[in-house]
Amino acid sequence: MEIIHTVAALKMLLAPLQKADSKIALVPTMGALHKGHLSLIEMAQKQAQIVVCSIFVNPTQFTDPKDLERYPRPLEHDIKMLYDAGCNVVFMPSVKEMYPSFPTPEHWQVDLGPAEFLLEGEFRKGHYQGVTQIVKKLFDAVQPDVAFFGQKDFQQVLMIKNMVKYFNMEVEIVSCPIIREEDGLAMSSRNIHLSLTDRENALVLSKALTYVATHFDQENLPTLLAKAKTMINETPGVVLDYFTIADGETLLPIENKNAAHPVALVAAKVGETRLIDNVLLS
Ligand code: AMP
Repeated sequence: MEIIHTVAALKMLLAPLQKADSKIALVPTMGALHKGHLSLIEMAQKQAQIVVCSIFVNPTQFTDPKDLERYPRPLEHDIKMLYDAGCNVVFMPSVKEMYPSFPTPEHWQVDLGPAEFLLEGEFRKGHYQGVTQIVKKLFDAVQPDVAFFGQKDFQQVLMIKNMVKYFNMEVEIVSCPIIREEDGLAMSSRNIHLSLTDRENALVLSKALTYVATHFDQENLPTLLAKAKTMINETPGVVLDYFTIADGETLLPIENKNAAHPVALVAAKVGETRLIDNVLLS
């Protein structure tokens, strides 16, 4: 497994492979890896000859400086996990490598469509410009044939697909299923911050989503939403940001169940930790 820190070294390593027509996959991460990340690596290995995993805690996508500061960075552990998983290349650039003028912001923007400003975009202003900035830079550095993202960050996958369309990029975007703990909690690097009580309370998010998914055919939309929100609001230590049943492309709330790609999405603060989760309803 090669560990690379600069774009120049990465390009030098990948150029001969690209020339030889090896299929290259990219799995972008912010590290603090868990089984959810490893599932993306596994999916990538099935579809490509070379798997590049990037580990970069991207400052431009954080709206809360405290969140950035306390983001876990267990680098040695991450490298061992990727080595054991048979990953080929780990790309771990510095902030200056990816943003040469940092902390002066780069002003270019991508038109991600109106869904950029909904849900996560409403609670984390500028978040998806930060996400697409770094993913664009990673795509430029790696030139992958295919890139793997988790459905866990549902809106992120949508925004990246919109960016790929916007720039006419030739990269396939694959969305991979959410990996959960046995009790249903969606795996997340941020779960490490949950106290034992938070951990217990956080289960209400996946329970509310499961309720909606299992009753979607029987109950009407207002009832489903009311029940899910009540479950969450009645759980101590959990503060709901949003719970919505939306169209998977516009992210606008659906008005009837015939919508093409309905999805239930939730975000809430559990103790000091903000969590997101979702479930597809079709
Ligand atoms: P992150 O390191 O949190 O930026 O995540 C890197 C990638 O892993 C993103 O595409 C996430 O959507 C994906 N991911 C995070 N958690 C999970 C999970 N529980 N199941 C599947 N994919 C995940």
